[in-house]
Amino acid sequence: MRLKAIVDLVDISMNYHSKEGETRAVAGVNLSVEAGEFVSVVGPSGCGKSTILSLIAGLISPTSGHVEVNGRVGYMFQRDQLFPWRTILDNVLLGLEIQKNKSAEAIAYAHEMLEKYGLGDFKNHRPREMSGGMRQRVALIRTLVTRPKILLLDEPFSALDYQTRLSVSDEVGGIIAEEGVTAILVTHDISEAIALSDRVVVLSKRPSRVVSVHKIDFEGECGTPTARRKQPQFPEYFDKIWKEMREDE
Ligand code: ADP
Ligand code: MG
Repeated sequence: MRLKAIVDLVDISMNYHSKEGETRAVAGVNLSVEAGEFVSVVGPSGCGKSTILSLIAGLISPTSGHVEVNGRVGYMFQRDQLFPWRTILDNVLLGLEIQKNKSAEAIAYAHEMLEKYGLGDFKNHRPREMSGGMRQRVALIRTLVTRPKILLLDEPFSALDYQTRLSVSDEVGGIIAEEGVTAILVTHDISEAIALSDRVVVLSKRPSRVVSVHKIDFEGECGTPTARRKQPQFPEYFDKIWKEMREDE
């Protein structure tokens, strides 16, 4: 028996209208994500990836097609969006404030998450006192304390330098696995997608269509994204996806 999908996109299309005219961003995308899955969506810049996340988050409605989402959604962006004048703790509590859910239980959970993920000593620090990688971890915890079932990540590592990107994707991948949330990551970085995901969905250039879907399986599942990058199958997945994206150009 097939489990009910936690996110189901059925033949969605999205046209934007502006003074300059109409932009077709998404052209008939189907995507079904099971609970607990980590799915990455890769595609060239401007192909409609962020649009697809906004559709899942319900921030916009599709021009046609159907979006079904069964659970609370949390969003993590490319820039950490922390407020510089707030402490780390107060930044983490912001999501709860916005949801008007700053209960004693929720505050205790925020403290617990900061401790659990190595930020306990930084609660009273300001974002500028921390590295880019730590700030992204704070941003992730801020989202997780609202207890989302589905986490949407919009190129969350692309503002970081290469070394930091590797270690932060290990940390973030580890936290997501530990907390058991379903994750949908959009990125133009093929390696990042393969290293983190159960499945990689390849999109065409704008307007986006699904070109292919790759199930990522490493023999004797090997844990962290960094460890996965060293697996012999890694370059095979990379070449296949890279060729598909080039052929689409
Ligand atoms: P990606 O995230 O893959 O880079 P986007 O989803 O941001 O792509 O954008 C896809 C296309 O839709 C782009 O051509 C972009 O300019 C256009 N677009 C995005 N948002 C809007 C908007 N609010 N109004 C008009 N056009 C938009
Ligand atoms: Mg984008």
